[in-house]
Amino acid sequence: MFDTLSDRLNGIFTKLRGKGRLSDADIDATAREIRLALLEADVALPVVRAFIASIKERARGAEVHQALNPAQQVIKIVHEELVGVLGGETRRLQFAKQPPTVIMLAGLQGSGKTTLAGKLARWLKGQGHQPLLVAADLQRPNAVNQLQVLGQRAGVEVYAPEPGNGVGDPVRVASDSIEHARRSMRDIVIVDTAGRLGIDAEMMGQAAAIRDAVTPDETIFVVDAMVGQDAVATAEAFRDGVGITGVVLSKLDGDARGGAALSVRHVTGQAILFASTGEKLEDFDVFHPDRMASRILGMGDVLTLIEQAEQAFDEDQKQRMAAKVTGGEAFTLEDFLEQMTALRRMGPIANILGMVPGMNQVKDQLAELDDSHFDRITAIIRSMTPGERVNPKVINGSRRARIARGSGVTVMDVNQLLNRFAEAQKMMKQMGGMMGLPGRRKATK
Ligand code: GDP
Repeated sequence: MFDTLSDRLNGIFTKLRGKGRLSDADIDATAREIRLALLEADVALPVVRAFIASIKERARGAEVHQALNPAQQVIKIVHEELVGVLGGETRRLQFAKQPPTVIMLAGLQGSGKTTLAGKLARWLKGQGHQPLLVAADLQRPNAVNQLQVLGQRAGVEVYAPEPGNGVGDPVRVASDSIEHARRSMRDIVIVDTAGRLGIDAEMMGQAAAIRDAVTPDETIFVVDAMVGQDAVATAEAFRDGVGITGVVLSKLDGDARGGAALSVRHVTGQAILFASTGEKLEDFDVFHPDRMASRILGMGDVLTLIEQAEQAFDEDQKQRMAAKVTGGEAFTLEDFLEQMTALRRMGPIANILGMVPGMNQVKDQLAELDDSHFDRITAIIRSMTPGERVNPKVINGSRRARIARGSGVTVMDVNQLLNRFAEAQKMMKQMGGMMGLPGRRKATK
């Protein structure tokens, strides 16, 4: 996700390392490079302009912290500006005072609306709600069926026109569904509407008519993150034609450059509520601007990782992990094994790769880690003595041979693991430093 932008920004920051003070020329050069990186990521020009102006002003201004070196200062400023561009505070769904809460989804065909409807329903159900899905996309031949399949998977009822009556009136279906929700005690109604491949007046008219029929509490514009700043024109059209209260970015798992994510908030004035990261129902989460900004800067999404780890780690493990990350405590092979085991419990490695701190450097290495690798790593670490696990420096040649024999691997495998561990240890140290940055605190914009 946003790999190119991350790499570019990291390259820019690397150049600043070791500089004692930033001259105006340094700041200008850095700003120019950041500008190029943003343009390359397909961020809309007005957003880039505002971003760069602010960075320049802040880098030159009084915000010079004695405690930070110039590279850190710039990272801190860029991080805070990114958080701002992405929306600042995490925005939660608004619920109606009087149920049912009505959520209407709008967007172009193929943007991921129907999939999102299923994801949202599943997520809300997990939060204890009783959602109802409404199939008001009667344009696309298979949309009703698709929603029914998703509803079944999510365990959520789908309100749809009678089978065979595919050319029904979507406005009628939508307004009837609210009555149905009231009668059947559903507290949330999610209305999937029709999209077109391009914006047209008829589609906008229909979306507006559905809006008038159901008076939504949230009108969510779903945008495919892969389309980059083309999303801007669509977003404006929906903002003006239907009125939107929030945005969902879909397909963030694709090779999106970041343009849509970084532009849409500025253009619509509405916050990004959720991010969709895959075709499965669970590939979906609340959008946190600060975490996304950290991820773009390649710090890894430590917070999301820790949150997800809650299900995999017990409380005690979690606290020890957090202490290691923030407190600079020694990170041992025991911890490494604990992490690996927890990571496996957390599910497909690919999903969490993007959240692992420092992933830019070790991404490729991690990508080849499959279950058999994990098993080997586990076996090797289990063949070490407790002393060796805490202080791997003592593992000399004969110990390596013993460990290899004990775990049924080659000495080369043991060496490889020890190298990998040394990398991880280094990363944990760096991360500790980064997390100590004042920039990690809440942004103000
Ligand atoms: P709609 O026309 O707006 O209702 O779009 P759909 O929900 O039918 O989605 C269009 C296609 O995109 C489908 O093949 C979905 O499986 C796929 N899709 C939706 N969301 C995501 C996502 O977050 N990631 C990926 N990779 N594919 C997605």
